[in-house]
Amino acid sequence: MHELAVTRSILKIVLDHTEKNGGKRVRKIFLQIGEIRNLEEEWIQRYFDKISTGSLAENAEIKVIKVPVVFLCKICKNEFSASFREEKKILCSHCNSFEYDLLTGREFIIEKIEIE
Ligand SMILES: [Zn+2]
Repeated sequence: MHELAVTRSILKIVLDHTEKNGGKRVRKIFLQIGEIRNLEEEWIQRYFDKISTGSLAENAEIKVIKVPVVFLCKICKNEFSASFREEKKILCSHCNSFEYDLLTGREFIIEKIEIE
């Protein structure tokens, strides 16, 4: 996902929500973003500041909660995390299996929008 496209969709959701609830201004936006998405939070804020100018969401602060990547091994049921920035293969930290499911890390959730 590209930061600018993501930020546009956040702004649209936030403005819809604010208008529906009769808000005059957006104060804060809380996001949950899985680490697998590899989004740079400072870019989200920067793009947001740009594209929200003149809207109800101008000057809103974006708070990002990063959700770590956690896998569940299908063989031994071990839960383990791994970094996607490293190029090496991901294996279960307990039994070295490569059969696992992604438990968390793919999130992209607007958790809360504070409006006035
Ligand atoms: Zn395992």
